[in-house]
Amino acid sequence: MLPDLERLIRLQSLHNIVDDARRRIAAIPAQFEAFETKLNKLRTALSDAKQQLDDNREVRRNLEKEVSDAKSRLAKFQEHEMIVKTNEELWAVQTEITTAKSAVQSFEEDLLVSMLETDALTASVNEAERSMATAEAEIEAERQTIEQERATSEATAKQALVARESLASEIDAAVLALFDQIAEKRNGLAVVEAENNLCSSCHVRLRPQVFNDIRLNDRVIQCESCGRILYFQLVNKSLPEAGA
Ligand SMILES: [Zn+2]
Repeated sequence: MLPDLERLIRLQSLHNIVDDARRRIAAIPAQFEAFETKLNKLRTALSDAKQQLDDNREVRRNLEKEVSDAKSRLAKFQEHEMIVKTNEELWAVQTEITTAKSAVQSFEEDLLVSMLETDALTASVNEAERSMATAEAEIEAERQTIEQERATSEATAKQALVARESLASEIDAAVLALFDQIAEKRNGLAVVEAENNLCSSCHVRLRPQVFNDIRLNDRVIQCESCGRILYFQLVNKSLPEAGA
């Protein structure tokens, strides 16, 4: 194989490594944002659940006071019942007693409902707290993994850039300029394989003579359609590793 073509293949491989690493790094803020969105939702759910429980407690306190007040009224009328002098007074006080009794019963029923609600709402708060704690722990672990991946990606990109620089210095200046020019125009992909008579990038069918020339791998040939530099992979399908 033409040495410069072999170097271009490795150069492309290093380019790909740098691009991949940069893409992974660039995707991190969105991942962190998604974590924040998830946590915010859970925070809101927890705060809503707590608010509902607080509201319920307020209602309960009022009902307890109502029950207590109604019981006091009842006791007062019952005392009064002992000392009434006339039938008219007795009739009046008994009406008050009936009303107070029914108020006590009604408030106690409401209080019971409210207490059952307290149980359900307390369970909801506990559940929301558990969800929050679980998510926080999971997200913290994911965050650490992502930070480690970020460090790895940064190191990989740095290493590949150093290797790229050293490799580039070995390539003929005109060939390197062509590579850079195509890479700039073609989203970083300047060197691709010719496979089954096709350019593996733009999939245009290559003329038989062009494909035969490419198979020789002895000069720099560009795809007539996309302009990328083409080479023919003899046995090993994968691109050489970085620094290989
Ligand atoms: Zn092409």
